Amino acid sequence: MRVLLTGGAGYIGAHTALALVEAGHDVLVVDDMSNSSPESISRVQALTEAAIPLLEADVRAFVAVRDFVRRHGPVDAIIHLAGLKAVGESVADPVRYYDVNIGTSVAVLQLMAAESIPTLVFSSSATVYGEPEILPLREDSRTGIKLANPYGKTKRIVEELLADAAHADARLRVTALRYFNPVGAHASGLIGEDPSGTPNNLMPYVAQVAVGRLDRVGIFGDDYPTPDGTGQRDYIHVMDLAAGHVAAVENARQGFDIYNLGTGIPVSVRELISAFERASGRSIPTEVLPRREGDVPSSFCDPRKALDSWGWSARRTIDDACVDSWRWQSRNPNGYADRP
Ligand code: UDP
Repeated sequence: MRVLLTGGAGYIGAHTALALVEAGHDVLVVDDMSNSSPESISRVQALTEAAIPLLEADVRAFVAVRDFVRRHGPVDAIIHLAGLKAVGESVADPVRYYDVNIGTSVAVLQLMAAESIPTLVFSSSATVYGEPEILPLREDSRTGIKLANPYGKTKRIVEELLADAAHADARLRVTALRYFNPVGAHASGLIGEDPSGTPNNLMPYVAQVAVGRLDRVGIFGDDYPTPDGTGQRDYIHVMDLAAGHVAAVENARQGFDIYNLGTGIPVSVRELISAFERASGRSIPTEVLPRREGDVPSSFCDPRKALDSWGWSARRTIDDACVDSWRWQSRNPNGYADRP
C-alpha cells in the first residue's frame, strides 16, 4: 500500500514510517515541522534505504497537499498524526487546539473525498476516557468523564466527526487508535522523542535528567491509592505502537472502529524511574511535588480487541523502552540537533 502520514516527521510518525517501510509499504509524509524536524525523516531514509517524499506544509494547505498526493500517488491510506498534543498548553490556548486538531482532521476527510482515498487511521488518545470508572479501560468504556482539558476534548470530537463521516459514506474505512503512553525509541538510537523545550511527559523528562540536561525529576504526588502511592500508566514502546498502525491500515474494515493501543500493564512513576536507572546505570535524583492538576491515579487498558482482531499485541517491556530511550538520549543529548 501507499500511505500518507500527516505529522509523519514527529515522534510517533517517524517510527511509524519506519515500520511501514519495513512491512513493504510506500510512505509519503506531510508535516509543517512545528514540533518536529526533517532530520527524523532523513534518518528513517538512511535506516531503510527507502525514498520518502516529504512535503513541508500544514495539512490544511489543501492544494499543496492534493498536488503532492497526485505527484506521488495514488495513495491508499492516510495515517493522520498531525496535531497539537500538550495538555497544559491546550488549557492555556484552547482556541488554537480546536482550530488545529479539528481543522486538520476536516482537511484530511476533504482530501480523502477529493482523491478517493478510502482508508484513514487516526491518532486518538486514552485521554478521551477522562477519569476511568473501571480498570482496565476497554474501547466501550465510557469516555469524557471529568475530562477538563481541551486537548482530550478535541480528540473526542474528532472521533465523533470520523464516526459521522464513515456513517455517511459506505466506502470509508476509518480506525481511531487510542494510544496509552508512548515511550522508547527505535533500537538503532537514530530516531527518538525530541520534545521542544522542557518535556511535559515523564519518560523524556527522566531521560534528560539522566543525561544531565535537567537536575531532578519531580514526582507529581506520592499519595495516590496505588501500590507505591505514585501514578500508574500504561507505557507502550513506540515501535509496538508503530506496529499497531501497520496492523490498523492492513486490516482496515468498512465503517468506523476504535482500538486501544497499550500493554495492559500498569507501571508507576517510581517503577519507571527505577527501570531507567537500571538501563542507564545512572542514579536519577527525585523530589516529591504536589499532584498535577487533572492527573488520574491510574490508567491502563484492556488490549484484547487488537489482539483478537489483528493478532497485534505489545511485545516490548518497560525495561526495553528505557534501554532504547537511553540509547537515543545518550547518543543525541540535544535530539535531532546532534548529527551523528
Ligand atoms: N509525572 C511526574 N513527573 C513529571 C511528569 C509526569 O511524576 O515530570 C507523572 C504524572 O503525574 C503521571 C505519569 O508521570 O502519573 C505520566 O505522565 P505523562 O505526562 O508522561 O503522561 P500522561 O499520562 O499524563 O499523559
